[in-house]
Amino acid sequence: MSVYKILIDPDPVLRQKSLPVKNINAGILRVLENMRDTMYAADGLGLAGPQIGISKRIIVVDPGENLLEIINPEIIDCEGEQSGSEGCLSVPGKFGWLKRAQKIRVKGLNPKGESIELEATDLLARVIQHEIDHLDGVLFPNKAIRIRTDSK
Ligand code: ZN
Repeated sequence: MSVYKILIDPDPVLRQKSLPVKNINAGILRVLENMRDTMYAADGLGLAGPQIGISKRIIVVDPGENLLEIINPEIIDCEGEQSGSEGCLSVPGKFGWLKRAQKIRVKGLNPKGESIELEATDLLARVIQHEIDHLDGVLFPNKAIRIRTDSK
């Protein structure tokens, strides 16, 4: 198990646009494993490559249901709207009120390199949208309607 140091805003890596993964090799699988370990150790609901200094389009997500690992995730359809409070392991001590799509359709690759497509709603949809933002160098304070330093 390898737990990585999570980069904290304003680390410039967090603002870079991540590159797509071209080849799922042993190095990428190792990164995924480390992201998983790091997410669980930090008690996060999701983690994106740039948060551990890897500018590649990889996310891991687990809002308490089951683990999803998506390589080159892409939102292909959105529906509805939800708003709620969000935090981020890279922006400690801050919370923001954000609007997100209520339901999304996502495609990408699983760790075996197979194409996957899935539908997510509510919290899972929110976490996936948050993590994909990281891949584009966007942190939640950029989208928040208001920011707070407590969780209410
Ligand atoms: Zn985040």
